[in-house]
This record gives sequence, C-alpha cells and structure tokens, in this order.
Amino acid sequence: MTKVVCPGSFDPVTNGHVDIVERAARLFDEVVVAVGVNESKKRLFSLQERIDMLRRATEHLPNVSVASFQGLLVDFCAEHGIAAIAKGLRAVSDFDYELQMAQMNGNLTDVDTLFIPTSPEYSFLASSLVKEVARGGGDVSGLVPDFVLEQMKDAFTR
Ligand code: ADP
Repeated sequence: MTKVVCPGSFDPVTNGHVDIVERAARLFDEVVVAVGVNESKKRLFSLQERIDMLRRATEHLPNVSVASFQGLLVDFCAEHGIAAIAKGLRAVSDFDYELQMAQMNGNLTDVDTLFIPTSPEYSFLASSLVKEVARGGGDVSGLVPDFVLEQMKDAFTR
C-alpha cells in the first residue's frame, strides 16, 4: 500500500491544488491532504473551513482523505505510515525553497519528496493571489472550485 501526503495551508484550496492531488491519486494507493496548523499565521479561513473545503473539492477521489497536522510534517508521516511527500512545483522560484525543505526532510527521516510539475494553466495560481484578486472584485472563476468563490465572498464581509 503506497501512501503519500500533499501538505499545505490551503487558504483556500485552488484548482492548482486539486490538480496536484488528482495526479498524486493516480500514482499512489492513498493520498492524505494535510493542512498544516500554524497559529502565528493569519488565515482567511479557519482550519475547519479549510478542511471542509478540501473534502468537498476532493470528494470525487475515493482514495483521498483530508487531515491536519501540527509540528513537523515528517512526524505526521511517521505516525501515518506515509512514505512520500508530493509537492507541486509552479516555477523555478518554488524550486530553491522546496529543494531545501526536501533535503532537510530527507536528512531527518527516510521520507522522500516527489515534485509534480504544475499544469501550465495553473502555473500562476496561488491562494494568496486568488484572495487578493477576488477581494478587489476580479473574476477568479475557473481558478478555484465554484463553492470556494461563494465562501470567499462571505469571508470578506465577516
Ligand atoms: P503553502 O502554505 O506551503 O504556501 P499552499 O497551501 O498554497 O502552500 O499550497 C500547498 C502546496 O500545493 C504547495 O506547496 C505546492 O506544492 C502546491 N501548489 C500550490 N499551488 C499550486 C499550483 N498552482 N500548481 C501546483 N501546485 C500547487
């Protein structure tokens, strides 16, 4: 049974995330999407909201589950019998940091990191940019699931 984790903050989930999770789900028996808890970072959506949105966005994928983790991702992997971390790479700018993280995690444990190149249509897509554009009234439909559009509108006004 091969099990992989797709980690992130997912504030909120975008179609770029869903694309990576779908592709990981074709390669591995089981995919755990893990939402990192970082109390010091200000988020638009609560942890529970982010988990709920991810569950909805991946409900068409029977071998995908959603969880959260606090602390080190490699510890989460050890606790859940996860052998690999799957990360999407958007551009060269992602690479330096991701390589550093992958090597650090490899140094801590034998959990390996696999990079999945982003689909070109999502290579410019980041949760932070989606929020900024949506807050300014820009059209981000097609970049996030439709229900996320609605939830962002609600979140901006609370
Ligand atoms: P973080 O909180 O690490 O900045 P996000 O929650 O935005 O990250 O994204 C989680 C992970 O999903 C990223 O580390 C990256 O591997 C992947 N990812 C994010 N956006 C995209 C995208 N547009 N295309 C492919 N992969 C992406």
